[in-house]
Amino acid sequence: MRLTRRSGLKLAAALAGSALIPTLALAQSAPFRHEVDGGEVVIHPVDHASMVWETPGGVIYVDPVGGAEAYADLPAPDLILITHEHGDHYDQPTLDALPEVPVIANQAVADMLPEAMGSRTTVMANGDDGQALDMPIKAIPAYNTTEDRQQYHPQGRDNGYILTIGGKRFLIAGDTEDTPELRQLQDIFVAFLPMNLPYTMTVQQAAEAVAAFAPEIVYPYHHRGSDLEEFKRLVAEGGSGAEVVIANWYPDGEA
Ligand code: ZN
Ligand code: ZN
Repeated sequence: MRLTRRSGLKLAAALAGSALIPTLALAQSAPFRHEVDGGEVVIHPVDHASMVWETPGGVIYVDPVGGAEAYADLPAPDLILITHEHGDHYDQPTLDALPEVPVIANQAVADMLPEAMGSRTTVMANGDDGQALDMPIKAIPAYNTTEDRQQYHPQGRDNGYILTIGGKRFLIAGDTEDTPELRQLQDIFVAFLPMNLPYTMTVQQAAEAVAAFAPEIVYPYHHRGSDLEEFKRLVAEGGSGAEVVIANWYPDGEA
């Protein structure tokens, strides 16, 4: 069965109306589909900050952690993106268990990789432009701006990524606060934004970023412990018109 996200939600609402399936369960478990030129991008949230994207150019694993079993039911990767070295984003045993495909990472992660993996890794620094499966990719800075959080993500080390897929720009913000670079982004179709303390930012900061750069669609991710209803409310209040998509990032229910 091939559902668009919108029709999936309609179906979910219809089923909920017939009291067969709770709306939330279906909406959360479905992959999310976004049309682009030449096809669609299918997003599979895996856990916390880990996800799988099926794109017209191939399958991308973003910050895969949690062991190969977490990916057993998903399509195999053609490319792996790593934002930074923390254990919820970079896990060598998981990488070792995945197919030997190209990797894009920041320098700090590249320095930690075993030699064989390093030889298939492209390093991107903040601001670099490159190609990922023949799609344009840009590394953007991901860092803390609040003084007592800068120990977690010091400026200049970690990446977010913007991929241009079928003419649309998809943002993986990485572990960041609402930096000037984030707030100044333009023409973002889909954005993944983190929100949790003390490591990234508050829902208020994330909503302010959304008001500033106005993505068409925003997924909260990396949000353990955060009030997503409050985030939704603040985004609506911010007037950007961004659609908030709540996915299930915590299959074990530990959010
Ligand atoms: Zn981190
Ligand atoms: Zn993290």
